[in-house]
Amino acid sequence: MIPHHPLSSDEHYPASAGSLSESTEVNPALSNRPDKPEEACGVFGVYAPGEDVAKMTYFGLYALQHRGQESAGIATFDSNAQVHLHKGMGLVSQVFNETILEELPGHLAVGHTRYSTTGTSRVVNAQPAIVPTRLGPLALAHNGNLVNTAVLGQELIEQKCNLITTTDSEMIAWAIGLEVDKGKDWLDAAISAFQRCKGAYSLAIATPTGIMGARDPNGIRPLVIGTLEGNPTRYVLASETCGLDIIGAEYLRDVEPGELVWIGEEGLASFHWSQASERKLCIFEMIYFARPDSIMCNESLYSYRLQLGRQLAKESPADVDIVIGVPDSGIPAAIGFSQTSGIPYAEGLIKNRYVGRTFIQPTQHMRESGIKMKLNPLKDVLTGKKVLMVDDSIVRGTTSRKIVKALRDAGATEVHMRISSPPVTHPCFYGIDTDSQDQLIAATKSVAEIEAQIEVDSLAYLSWEGMLIATGEDPSRFCSACFTGDYPIQIPDPVKRSKLIMEKALSSTPAG
Ligand code: SF4
Repeated sequence: MIPHHPLSSDEHYPASAGSLSESTEVNPALSNRPDKPEEACGVFGVYAPGEDVAKMTYFGLYALQHRGQESAGIATFDSNAQVHLHKGMGLVSQVFNETILEELPGHLAVGHTRYSTTGTSRVVNAQPAIVPTRLGPLALAHNGNLVNTAVLGQELIEQKCNLITTTDSEMIAWAIGLEVDKGKDWLDAAISAFQRCKGAYSLAIATPTGIMGARDPNGIRPLVIGTLEGNPTRYVLASETCGLDIIGAEYLRDVEPGELVWIGEEGLASFHWSQASERKLCIFEMIYFARPDSIMCNESLYSYRLQLGRQLAKESPADVDIVIGVPDSGIPAAIGFSQTSGIPYAEGLIKNRYVGRTFIQPTQHMRESGIKMKLNPLKDVLTGKKVLMVDDSIVRGTTSRKIVKALRDAGATEVHMRISSPPVTHPCFYGIDTDSQDQLIAATKSVAEIEAQIEVDSLAYLSWEGMLIATGEDPSRFCSACFTGDYPIQIPDPVKRSKLIMEKALSSTPAG
């Protein structure tokens, strides 16, 4: 094993690699956390000799921007087996420009958009993670979260790995690199390394000769394979199908849980390396995280979310004048509710689509004025109306309360709320940044208490059964632990204690 990390060396890197001034290294938007679970990451990979792989990756990441807005990175490999890397803090459009992309030559690439779940928000933690091996560098982009980082990190340090970040993603990269340096090829090395990784991981990995795509045995996070239009021997990997659509690639299939695919000169080869694969796709991907134009479980997520709204209308009707959705993610379910109830759908909240995540903090006055930087109520639609508002989830309840107040201030005579998922009562350990359990409003309060706290005239959630029926699939094929506490991958006690109320209470009990 080469005992230093490539970021300490510039021989394989253009001058721009990993560059960012210290003053912008920590993203101030972190202090302005939204009241929603945050998706961890988007990954993208492409093998396409003769094509502009850096630009393709840029656009793939652009489509996956909703999966992580704190940092972005692209690594390309050229025909001399050199890796070229650029990564930085901010949105994909802030990190890259034409000049930077021109400095990323090659025939294959991987890219990443990140929202930190493990590791702080610093450029050194941005991905792809690069690790040197005897077969050349490896660049790895990871979506998910390992639950055994304490053990794995310690083992890797004992094996003289020079971990320079605090991310589980770098640990996976080093675990693969170690196996390569024992004499294995890329595939055997990856398969050996996966045996040491517990938790959720969907990976796009670049090597000098090909790219690899892999999912953990439960396939918690999504990963799809596409082919370039007009050239079915050129392959693309993406977290969601919207990452294929943007570059004109055609969806081929999902990477299966417990599958590793190798894509190189010989085409695509598949290896099912786990004997215990059982799909447990994150149901929250379908409800909220993934883009509505992406396809999962053979249907568009827009259709699934419409279906959630229809089911919600059957379960929890209301006597109101109009149905509105909280933009953007609550809108399909609101339309579905309207279709089944016969109550007219209206746009009652307008989203400022260009506000994004700004690095400039709002003034104190703006902060106090509430949510209007993002959502503005339409007075002429709302005045004098009994309004039913549909949202996809309530986490802490702070934003819901502000929106309800804004609707009343705009003239709504009654505000009722319907949620197109069950109450979120448990934190996620598999790559979604939810608050600890004591911050989740539904973990500590009844529906009636939440109703009072957010000041709505009525509140109802979709049932757990209704949420799963709408998938049209066997419910056992999904993870829904944040609604039930039934975690499909075992979580070590110290990790549980970091986020669960019960475990916190236990941990404070004196020993003996
Ligand atoms: S715990 Fe919730 S957010 Fe996390 S993977 Fe399971 S369903 Fe998704």
